[in-house]
Amino acid sequence: MERDLKKIPSPSKGLLSSEELYEYILETSVYPREPEPLKELRHVTANHPRALMATAPDAGQIISMLLQLVNAKNTIEVGVFTGYSLLLTALSIPEDGKITAIDMNRESYEIGLPIIKKAGVEHKIDFIESEALPALDRLLKDPSNEGNFDFAFIDADKVNYWNYHERLMKLVKVGGIVVYDNTLWGGSVAMSEEDTPEFRKQGRQLTIEFNRLIAADPRVHISLAPYGDGITICRRIS
Ligand code: SAH
Ligand code: CA
Repeated sequence: MERDLKKIPSPSKGLLSSEELYEYILETSVYPREPEPLKELRHVTANHPRALMATAPDAGQIISMLLQLVNAKNTIEVGVFTGYSLLLTALSIPEDGKITAIDMNRESYEIGLPIIKKAGVEHKIDFIESEALPALDRLLKDPSNEGNFDFAFIDADKVNYWNYHERLMKLVKVGGIVVYDNTLWGGSVAMSEEDTPEFRKQGRQLTIEFNRLIAADPRVHISLAPYGDGITICRRIS
């Protein structure tokens, strides 16, 4: 294991150690290029008591680039909330693109829906109000869905991330991308159990376990990148 190689110093460059540095990235590179409808959705969501659940704008920016890099046309979204990542995806895929968007709560989706409609991209969205696991299983019942998706963004209940992954390794094509959100869980993955605030303990354990499993999965190339709350970018290779 890498950490046994005691003589090799940590490759850390000590970056992203401050809120100010994060704000700098947002202010210089993210907000000036954030499409107007996304800005509006972010502002509408800011008043929601659970506003922090929304995808971070810097994560959104790289997700949009990934969607365009792989020419994603048919995508899956698990965990919609008010629709920041959903609208971002809808704005990044072509006119005839499709997003199968799954969330068990339609109410929060409806907060963002007027903005999605105004942006003229609602026709790309197939919203499924359901628990995600049975919804993915329903997709898999149709064999023509196997390898039919170019991209998936996963941002719902962390307890099921591995279960989602197993299904996505069938639904997303070889060469396609799956992005998992919140894989640094507020930085708690690198804290000791004692130093972890109570409200983060369960998520921390689940995230550590998921990160361990995905790092050992030969079906994907991965990059755990410190955008937002941490995103794990996977490319299916087999
Ligand atoms: N991607 C969203 C944030 C998602 S927050 C954005 O950019 O704003 C997580 C969402 O997952 C919530 O809306 C919640 O209703 C949904 N969720 C949680 N558990 C779920 C489950 N088991 N099945 C489907 N949706 C679930
Ligand atoms: Ca999230």
